[in-house]
Amino acid sequence: MTDYPTSRPTDAAYLGEQPELPRELLNLPWIDIHNHAHTLSWEDRERYALSGCQSMMMVASGYHWTPYKPVSADDIRFLWDDAINRRAAIERNHFFEAKLGLGVHTGVRIENPDELLDAMAEYCELPEVIAIGETGVTPGQHVASWDVDSQQAVVQAQMELADEHDLPVLLHTPNQSSDGGRSYRSELAVPGYEKNTSLGADPVLDGDNPALESVKRDVEAMRDAGLDDRQVVASHADDNNTEYLMEETECYLSYTIGHSWLIGVTAEDVADAIDEYGPERIMVDTDCANVLRTDPFALKRAIFELYRYGIDEDAIRQVVLENPRTVFDFES
Ligand SMILES: [Zn+2]
Repeated sequence: MTDYPTSRPTDAAYLGEQPELPRELLNLPWIDIHNHAHTLSWEDRERYALSGCQSMMMVASGYHWTPYKPVSADDIRFLWDDAINRRAAIERNHFFEAKLGLGVHTGVRIENPDELLDAMAEYCELPEVIAIGETGVTPGQHVASWDVDSQQAVVQAQMELADEHDLPVLLHTPNQSSDGGRSYRSELAVPGYEKNTSLGADPVLDGDNPALESVKRDVEAMRDAGLDDRQVVASHADDNNTEYLMEETECYLSYTIGHSWLIGVTAEDVADAIDEYGPERIMVDTDCANVLRTDPFALKRAIFELYRYGIDEDAIRQVVLENPRTVFDFES
């Protein structure tokens, strides 16, 4: 017991040896390899800077931002051009390095995808474009369904381009929807997610585990394209796909923790994966976007959570900084 002049003993009098605290984590730089920060507010982007984000990849491929339904190639092309148009200003405003991922996502059927694929080669040559994606087979589309073989062909074509241009591919792996719980009034849909769910098309994959089936098709596309596993980062890794991706491929897995309220993945899942498989092929991303309730501080918070869950500082540094640097061509 330490002598304190308090009138009676307080907790402080009973403290054992103080644990060593990981003060270096307070200033550990980190990289977010999957977000849509060009759609966020200035203040949200500032939150990235305030919490130590050193570099990020802003992904322009999402159908969420195309105003017209059905979606045509031109709509997606506009998203790419808009991101290119604004990227440098975002860097100048916030000081972090902002690079781009451009892709054809299959969350909605695009009427003339070949036009996009033809145009993509030249975009791949731009120094600010450091990856293709996000893309990946999805079990069900918004607005108009896209048959699964055609989806896979579009994913494979992008992987072939990635191979030619020596770029990594950011895969969008579908999360398995969690069962149970109440659902919201159908006319209001899910709060925090700007999506007209009444436009959901019938699923194109309807086996026991369509989310995993999609990932297997992506891996088949990767193999058929001849793209090295280590050039592929599977974002939205979760309980449902981790074992398959870890054991059957050499791909990287990135756990999306910026909208845990929707997909249920948290730093705890990341810690479990590190315990089981080591940190070598693991990353963490936020997927922050303006169409969804997301948290720009999520990755910084995860750094502290991982430590609390028993992950050591070297492993944390590897998953939030070093692995992204190895795979993506960031300058800093
Ligand atoms: Zn995303």
